[in-house]
Amino acid sequence: MDRSRHIIVLLGPPGSGKGTHSAFLREHLGIPSISTGEILRAEVQSRSVVGRRVEAAMRAGKLVSDHLVNRIVASRIGHREFRGGFLLDGYPRTADQAAFLDGHLTCMGMPAPLVLHLDCPDDVLVQRMTSRRSCGHCGRLYNLLFHPPARPGRCDHDDSPLLQRLDDSEAVIRTRLEAYQRVAEPLIAWYRPGNYHRLDASRGAAHLHARLRQILAPEAAVLASSELAVA
Ligand SMILES: [Zn+2]
Repeated sequence: MDRSRHIIVLLGPPGSGKGTHSAFLREHLGIPSISTGEILRAEVQSRSVVGRRVEAAMRAGKLVSDHLVNRIVASRIGHREFRGGFLLDGYPRTADQAAFLDGHLTCMGMPAPLVLHLDCPDDVLVQRMTSRRSCGHCGRLYNLLFHPPARPGRCDHDDSPLLQRLDDSEAVIRTRLEAYQRVAEPLIAWYRPGNYHRLDASRGAAHLHARLRQILAPEAAVLASSELAVA
C-alpha cells in the first residue's frame, strides 16, 4: 500500500470555510480535488446514461441516490490524474457513502482517507452567513465580518446598494444547518475511530492552516522520503 498518496475527505457545514481550506490543502499537498457538484454537472452535460439519470433526479428536486453518486465518484477516482492522491469535496455525504468509499479504496489498494472535519458552532456559522451581502448591480460579494465594503451598505465598485439574499436569513440558515447535522452525525460517527481530525473552524485561517500543516507533517515526511528513495 502506497502511504505517500494523500486521500483526503474534507467535512464541514455550510459557512465553515471549506472552499478556502480546500484551496490551501490542494496547494500545500499538490493534489487535485474531486468536487461532487462539479462531476455531477459534468456527467449531466455528457448526456451519458448515468448523466440522464442524474438530471432526472435533479429536475425532480431530489438528491441523487447514494448508489448513483458512488458509481460516479468511483469511476472518477480511477482516472490517471488522481493516482497520486486527491481531496474529496462534497463526498461522502452520508455514512452509507463513506462505507462504500472505504471498501472501494481497499479494492483499489489505496490507503484509508485522512478525514478533516471543520467543526463550528451554529451561532458562529449563522453570524458569518447573515453577514453576506452582494451588489444588486454588479454582483460583487462582500462579508461584513471578513470583507466589508469601504462605505457601509455601498458597493466599492459602482456605489450601488448592497443586498442580502433571502437564503441568507437566519431562519433559512438554521433550517439548513439542522438538515446538515442530521446527515453529518452518522457520517462523523463512522469516521471517528479512523484517521479523523476535528478542527475548530471558528478560529482564523492562519490558526487553521498551522493546524493542517501539523496534521499533515508526518504524511509530508513520508512523501519526502519516498521522493528521496526514487532519486
Ligand atoms: Zn457593484
